[in-house]
Amino acid sequence: MTNSPTLLDRDHSYVWHPYSSMTANHAIFPVKSAHGVRIKLTDGRELIDGMSSWWSAIHGYNHPAMNQAISDQLKDMSHIMFGGLTHQPAVDLAEQLVKITPKSLNTVFFVDSGSVATEVAMKMAIQYWYAKKQPEKQKMLTIRYGYHGDTFGAMSVSDPENGMHSLFSDTLAQQFFADAPNCNFNQDCTEADIEPLHTQLKNNQHQIAAIIMEPIVQGAGGMRFYSPDYLKRVRKLCDQYHVLLIMDEIATGFGRTGKLFACEHAEIEPDILCIGKALTGGYMTLAASLCNDDIAETISNGEPGLFMHGPTFMANPLACSAALASLEILFNSPWQQRVKQIEQHLKSGLTPCLQHPAVKDVRILGAIGVVELHKPVNMQKIQPQFVEAGVWVRPFNHLIYLMPPYIIGIDDLNTLTTAVATIISNIEDEL
Ligand code: PMP
Repeated sequence: MTNSPTLLDRDHSYVWHPYSSMTANHAIFPVKSAHGVRIKLTDGRELIDGMSSWWSAIHGYNHPAMNQAISDQLKDMSHIMFGGLTHQPAVDLAEQLVKITPKSLNTVFFVDSGSVATEVAMKMAIQYWYAKKQPEKQKMLTIRYGYHGDTFGAMSVSDPENGMHSLFSDTLAQQFFADAPNCNFNQDCTEADIEPLHTQLKNNQHQIAAIIMEPIVQGAGGMRFYSPDYLKRVRKLCDQYHVLLIMDEIATGFGRTGKLFACEHAEIEPDILCIGKALTGGYMTLAASLCNDDIAETISNGEPGLFMHGPTFMANPLACSAALASLEILFNSPWQQRVKQIEQHLKSGLTPCLQHPAVKDVRILGAIGVVELHKPVNMQKIQPQFVEAGVWVRPFNHLIYLMPPYIIGIDDLNTLTTAVATIISNIEDEL
């Protein structure tokens, strides 16, 4: 008699996971459910969540008010096309987003994922210059170590090495790259920091439609933090050289860095803003690109008079209802205080890791704690160790990082930082 295949066997046979191989046997852990900051595996083990499901589940899992909002919306409709039709959740959400984002952003274009939000932002920038009779401005300028998504346009502005540009060189749009600044969050921006971007602008301004960057925190491209002063200089240069500024706040938005949006650290406003991830509290896939009146009017009044984009699941009502509920929960919570508290505990819990010779740097900002190692982690080895320690932490390359849900308690946070410190102290043999 043969045993019927387990969930893991079937997963291994049929399912391709993110950034994974179908032939190598990567460790995968089946999840039964998740509540608050705890992820319950099918074998009964519970893990404390250190990842917020890739920056998104800021209120934790299975939140009663979020569940209620979605089941209420389900009674009216789960989805309806957005071409020629509209609905309350989309209008309410757009109005709310215009209120909470930088003042000049008054128009919201909903999409279904972060990558598509960056595609849409880049299309907006190109169409803007086309409508202004400057069709030669088609290229983007960005800095190294960025990450803006996995679709082709988004990939073309993500770090060339992490994004494996050489692999896609015949199809990937060629954009302009400048060296990333070396000024940390608390430092001033020097001439040496801004010079590479400035030079690219000076030399190529007539081809450049927009600069696209993640403000203050570069996420999946290297988890680097940089100075608000640099961002201020970038804004000035954009105005000086007639180039739009796209801020990708898909990872940083909704409080993660201690401000509602990271561009607030620099007190600047982008021309286009991309948001996603925590927009729905991690419940549903939804993202948006917001723009200012100049962009909305120029595109709408110019040739061809329409913005050329419109996904099937645009402004999905369930996702919009989830986003409205998530914003209400966020604004009714002491989120700034919580993020500050997480920041303090990440500092005290992770800074001692600097003593270990495998560790190159420890950096903390808001509810983000990063331990950078000299060498890439051995995922096959380290991932099960975290699970054994009762925590869910998903390192990549040289980076072990924590970005827990804002509702996490101090004891759980201590368990997370202790697990990181202990596991790092055991990686001697990797050196
Ligand atoms: N931009 C940034 C800054 C991101 O961190 C991500 C996702 N990690 C994306 C864009 C792409 O978002 P999505 O995975 O929803 O397509």
